[in-house]
Amino acid sequence: MAQFAQIIVDVPTLQTNRPYDYAIPLVWQDQLQVGIRVVVPFGKGSRQVQGFVVGTSDTPPDYAGELKTIAQVLDLQPVLNTELLALAKWLAQWTFSFQISCMQTMLPSMMKASYTKKVRLTGAATPATAAIFNGQAELDFADLAPETIKQLLKLQRQNLVEVDYQVHDRAKIKTIKAIQPLLSVAEYTAAAAKVPANAKRQHDLLAYLSAHATTTAPLSLPQITAETQLTLAHMHTGADKGWLRIVDLETYRDPYAELATAPRTQPLTLTAEQATAVEQITTAGQQQQAKVFLVEGVTGSGKTEIYLQSIQAAIAKGQTALMLVPEIGLTPQMVTRVKGRFGAHVAVLHSGLSNGERYDEWRRIERGEAQVVVGARSAVFAPLTNLGLIIMDEEHESSYKQDDMPRYHARDVALWRARYHHCPVVLGSATPSLESRSRAQKGVYQLIRLKERANHQPLPEVTVVDMKDELKQTKEDNFSSLLLQELHKRLLHQEQSVLMLNRRGFSSFVMCRDCGFVLKCPNCDISLTLHMDTHSMKCHYCGHEEAIPQVCANCQSRKIRYYGTGTQKVESELKVLLPEARILRMDVDTTRRKGAHAKILRQFGNHQADILLGTQMIAKGLDFPDVTLVGVLNADTALGLPDFRASERTFQLLTQVSGRAGRADKKGEVIVQTYNPEHYAIRLARHHDYEGFYQREMTLRHQAGYPPYYYTILVTASHEEENEAAKKIFQLMNQVKPALSPQAVLLGPTPRAIARVNKRYYYQMVIKYKHEPQLEKILTQIMQENQARNGIQISIDREPLSFI
Ligand code: ADP
Ligand code: ZN
Ligand code: ZN
Repeated sequence: MAQFAQIIVDVPTLQTNRPYDYAIPLVWQDQLQVGIRVVVPFGKGSRQVQGFVVGTSDTPPDYAGELKTIAQVLDLQPVLNTELLALAKWLAQWTFSFQISCMQTMLPSMMKASYTKKVRLTGAATPATAAIFNGQAELDFADLAPETIKQLLKLQRQNLVEVDYQVHDRAKIKTIKAIQPLLSVAEYTAAAAKVPANAKRQHDLLAYLSAHATTTAPLSLPQITAETQLTLAHMHTGADKGWLRIVDLETYRDPYAELATAPRTQPLTLTAEQATAVEQITTAGQQQQAKVFLVEGVTGSGKTEIYLQSIQAAIAKGQTALMLVPEIGLTPQMVTRVKGRFGAHVAVLHSGLSNGERYDEWRRIERGEAQVVVGARSAVFAPLTNLGLIIMDEEHESSYKQDDMPRYHARDVALWRARYHHCPVVLGSATPSLESRSRAQKGVYQLIRLKERANHQPLPEVTVVDMKDELKQTKEDNFSSLLLQELHKRLLHQEQSVLMLNRRGFSSFVMCRDCGFVLKCPNCDISLTLHMDTHSMKCHYCGHEEAIPQVCANCQSRKIRYYGTGTQKVESELKVLLPEARILRMDVDTTRRKGAHAKILRQFGNHQADILLGTQMIAKGLDFPDVTLVGVLNADTALGLPDFRASERTFQLLTQVSGRAGRADKKGEVIVQTYNPEHYAIRLARHHDYEGFYQREMTLRHQAGYPPYYYTILVTASHEEENEAAKKIFQLMNQVKPALSPQAVLLGPTPRAIARVNKRYYYQMVIKYKHEPQLEKILTQIMQENQARNGIQISIDREPLSFI
């Protein structure tokens, strides 16, 4: 019987990784387990804070003062198992953060806030449940006496009750658009006679309405669109003419409902390269080796099939599998492929789900109902037990690194969990990060290369257009004559094209032609971006919004010009150049609404458009057989960034986007427009030469002393007053410097490239090192000592992916 508990508490102003000792009230002494959340009094005023039980014991702690007692127990059973608790401890050390934030990161957000917690009957009523529930269907957990909770615990073990979190937005009804025909068949026929013959869509609509004129229930618009390609815009026309009414129809929320009924796919017959890969991975699984495989496979080499069949092998052994995908909302096709193979065994976790949906998926995993988890970064914490395989697709993607505390990289967490479970990890990419590729070179990871596409088609031919020459010929900035000509050809052959606008840095800002004044955010130090849809200027960092200026704020000139190439601008340009083309645009603006991203891809897949125009988000994971042309409008944008990974990013992006062309039996072609045709990243991407790029880039990194030859840590201090931030960073430098060996390099301190964000000033220094035994200790100490005191904020970022 444990009488004492060690608890990690959540005190925002005084974070610490040290557990505090508490006494366990008598009623809980044989129940309280490690991993349960509690409420405890803390500090002088004994204010109530949340905490996690990380240990229990029978012997009194070595503590002189009076021991406080746990005030409330929040869970009937642990929400974090022993593996995840151990992981939190390690992660806090590794990322210079606090265990409490690691623990909270692991749980679905519904469990972080104060949601109402209900106890519900799940089995048949028994005398015991009847006594507690007393005719009610559910009880509010917060109102229950400890004795009652104790009884409920027993009932829960018999599966008679369950605990559920209820969040208020869950009750919110979701609706879809639907239409209601208003006329009779005869009236529709009469209306059709008045519509000009060439208004084909209106005739289609009338035909549809006529066929459904007798239907009384509203007709779902998504379904109509799927059947007839008539969209909401056509319905508005119909509504204006009095043919129909548009209504909102209530619907059930299941993000992947349509996949539940989809037929299951069968494993494909593997190519020789794929078969070798699957065999190596499953052998490591059988031998319980925490081996790391780097699958370096050209785009279209069938990496996904390797993942699926390796997962299949793990499940066959009764184990579970975790598959990480970068920001999964971006690749609904991937979810479809995994769900298509493993059906209801799959749980999906990503930021595009509502809190309620995510919590439901998490519970399915926790209860062992789902054996396969597909998810974005934070899914790496999925509470799977008996893990047999971890896969990380597109392992080079920077979205695997979290920007806020805890600043973890999902790859590091995946490797930790694999060691814990003695299971293999598969890192897959056509363009592995230099860090991973060099580890494979050293034999730390096992390299598996796939040099051929699964369909044995050649990789697409890439043509590079020098836009410096092009500018002399025409006035159009965005489209070379070659690209236009090829787009035109695709229209004639009814093939599809993908156009990527590399939109990084300062795209559509407003500048005065007389004085060069650029409108900036009053809170941050960066240019405001022009948004045509809302007719406003917005700050992408803090959300500040203001009207588009008519006169220059600096010199009152009226000569204000819009600079850069936003997707909207390119779209309107394209509409003029190719009026007959049907264009779908995919960028942050058109995909902001939930499900919008999947919808655009579905429309493109259904051939409702000829051209998919988008930002980087179109580069990844799309697999459309009829895409035969990929155009990159501006390959250079990322090259200009003040970041040593600029070339690597450019190479990766060009390779990824090129891989979208010619994936089925039709040959693919890629046109890359650039002002730097001689740059090695562009030259080597043109020849799909990852290995060449790797060699070249490694040489440069070696000369300049960058990763992967050095480790890096970025230390940042921020304050509302610029000099306070500067003072702090110099003080930290003086604290770190004496602990470093002469082999380490300290860069800075400097103001950050964007020095002010959201009214705070940022100063930073970078530590480059190979082996510094003292460094961890001193940084951990800095973290503990400097917590949001005097308005200063410190962050320590191991292996930062962005230095801007
Ligand atoms: P990658 O992820 O390596 O870019 P994918 O896994 O998307 O490649 O595979 C590319 C295409 O090849 C897909 O359409 C896939 O269905 C197909 N494919 C993969 N493996 C095989 C196989 N063994 N036989 C036939 N087709 C395959
Ligand atoms: Zn001006
Ligand atoms: Zn701002």
